[in-house]
Amino acid sequence: MGSQEVSSTVDWQGKHVTVAGLGVSGIPAARALHERGALVTVVNDGDDERARAQAAELEALGITVRLGDGATLPPSTELVVTAPGWQPDKPLFLAAAEAGVPVWGDVELAWRLRGDDGREPAPWLAVTGTNGKTTTVRMLASILEAAGLRTAAVGNIGVSLLDAVLGEREYDILAVELSSYQLHWAPSLRAHSAAVLNLAPDHLDWHGSMAAYAADKGRVYEGNTVACVYNAADPATEDLVREADVEEGCRAIGFTLGAPGPSQLGVVDGILVDRAFVANRQKQAQELAEVTDVDPPAPHNIANALAAAALARAFGVEPAAVRDGLRAFRPDAHRIEHVADIDEVRYVDDSKATNTHATEASLAAYDSIVWIAGGLAKGATFDELVTGAAKRLRGVVLIGSDRALIREALTRHAPEVPVVDLDRTDTGAMSEAVARAAELARPGDTVLLAPACASMDMFTNYNKRGEAFADAVRARADESA
Ligand code: ADP
Repeated sequence: MGSQEVSSTVDWQGKHVTVAGLGVSGIPAARALHERGALVTVVNDGDDERARAQAAELEALGITVRLGDGATLPPSTELVVTAPGWQPDKPLFLAAAEAGVPVWGDVELAWRLRGDDGREPAPWLAVTGTNGKTTTVRMLASILEAAGLRTAAVGNIGVSLLDAVLGEREYDILAVELSSYQLHWAPSLRAHSAAVLNLAPDHLDWHGSMAAYAADKGRVYEGNTVACVYNAADPATEDLVREADVEEGCRAIGFTLGAPGPSQLGVVDGILVDRAFVANRQKQAQELAEVTDVDPPAPHNIANALAAAALARAFGVEPAAVRDGLRAFRPDAHRIEHVADIDEVRYVDDSKATNTHATEASLAAYDSIVWIAGGLAKGATFDELVTGAAKRLRGVVLIGSDRALIREALTRHAPEVPVVDLDRTDTGAMSEAVARAAELARPGDTVLLAPACASMDMFTNYNKRGEAFADAVRARADESA
């Protein structure tokens, strides 16, 4: 069971496996390995009531659980299976490296267990990137479904990877969302085709450096058989394709918001076109869908649609299914979600924009904006974001604990833009933010919640933040009706 081994079948009988972390990936992993005859020990840092209840359930099956110590490697361990979020410099992993014990994440485990019951495993179309993964994977699944294929969007959304691989349902193809953490721990994953949507600094505390983060993202291309899909506007993604070791004949396919060159997908006169998967790519382009088939038709989302289309086309999907799948797709809540129009002002909830890269994309989607922003900055700086958007800002309403950072960037780069600084974090704060934004807005403007920050200073999560915004907007809409 050395780390070099790539074969997917392992004889688990009597293997000593340490599962690191109780939780959404650890518990099913422990169960699956135990069912296959492995001798499983789960180690977990926490020792709270919930962990004890989970431990009791696993122990009842005969699985050993060690609570309150996730750092020490049990001596007989032959393999560690870790929750993806566990940081690579943890003592447990250092001990594993010293002992020559391989470490797999949840994705690696799913990849290795696929087909171990004798069924033909479905290939994977994989998507990673700093932003847009969930959206793109769901678009892709929608396209694959429209093509009549048995598929699912898996990863951080919907079905878990392990369930998809081990469950009773059979699939022709899986649309798989992969985070940089998951890729870090997935050395032998070999997707049919994969896309890196974009690459901006994120999670650098975990990976240690931008180079290490990029290298982990780039793993998604390793061993691809048909297409490595990259973003032509983001050269770092193309570099990763160049560095990847792929199967003979695998092609680099770019997507662009402009007119596509050969081996690219792009946009011509409001039409999404394919100049990659056609008989003569020097002379020929295939119409796939219209820009207006994509919801919302914002530039970054057209890019997501093109990436999804490229992966589907790499799998042989017909153009009509790309169009039908994109038409059938509806974005998840709090992702550039149109809430209401009041007095000719549009209110849009992009609470999911929790970093500056995502917010940059949503600010680029509108011409004249009253921007509601702020929260927990997670070490980000806002100068570039504000400089890029300054011309389109009618006004800004700031909320949350790190709002001073955004205010200072506005003072430096957009001193003429009116700013309302809300110094309150109670439950009524979002209603006031919406009210103040409404005062700043003129007919034709968009009031956009795209905070560029995490929400946990004021809300349980970004969903709750988005709901608070939407509730406040709807209350105003009812009043003005
Ligand atoms: P992820 O799964 O990578 O977090 P989502 O699809 O959930 O991505 O979108 C997260 C946020 O990123 C949303 O606020 C959305 O508006 C923004 N976003 C989506 N696609 C892109 C993109 N291609 N480039 C930049 N930002 C994007």
